[in-house]
Amino acid sequence: MGDRRRRTGVMGGTFDPIHHGHLVAASEVAARFDLDEVIFVPTGNPTFKQHQQVTPAEHRYLMTVIATASNPRFTVSRVDIDRPGLTYTVDTLRDLREQRPDDDLFFITGADAVAQMLTWKDAQELWSMATFVAVTRPGHPLSVEGIPPDRVNILEIPAMAISSSDCRARARAGLPVWYLVPDGVVQYIAKHGLYPREAVEV
Ligand code: ATP
Ligand code: MG
Repeated sequence: MGDRRRRTGVMGGTFDPIHHGHLVAASEVAARFDLDEVIFVPTGNPTFKQHQQVTPAEHRYLMTVIATASNPRFTVSRVDIDRPGLTYTVDTLRDLREQRPDDDLFFITGADAVAQMLTWKDAQELWSMATFVAVTRPGHPLSVEGIPPDRVNILEIPAMAISSSDCRARARAGLPVWYLVPDGVVQYIAKHGLYPREAVEV
């Protein structure tokens, strides 16, 4: 065991809010890939969400801390929220590799993000920086065409049909988000009025 390199998962996301789909995905990848740690990395300004209003990074960061606090293998990194400008995965991986030069990194991503991966900044360089683990996600077909099969692993995980968009819409409609997100996150959302009540149908 002495020479074994640390195996570290990286779970990027907007986490607006973090929900049990994210947590199950991270936990399943950690178990199947024998990871020592999974680092959750809330995005700064997400590239794909520029036209959308996103909750301030500090709230998303704190919700991620609350949601992961009880799991000794889960940690949260500020690299993306502290870096100015848009968030690109290549920068996330560069920063984390600098902080942990001896770790093997496993980047965890959902089926919807896999389809976009080829358009990511410095896509070719990405493959050498980490092993990619693409997890299945209800409602999103997994399309891995054009993605190097030796660098991207596909993992079927217990289906959790939960999305942050749906959680926000439910909160805005006055519907409960209990059991979709961790209890502390339900309370944090209420305490800070993150998704104020609107007259919308879900
Ligand atoms: P939004 O609805 O606002 O886009 P989201 O639920 O997709 O939010 P993100 O923060 O965008 O959450 O997702 C971060 C990562 O987690 C992405 O790679 C996404 O594919 C993955 N993911 C999100 N929800 C699930 C889920 N229910 N099952 C598996 N993977 C998920
Ligand atoms: Mg999403």
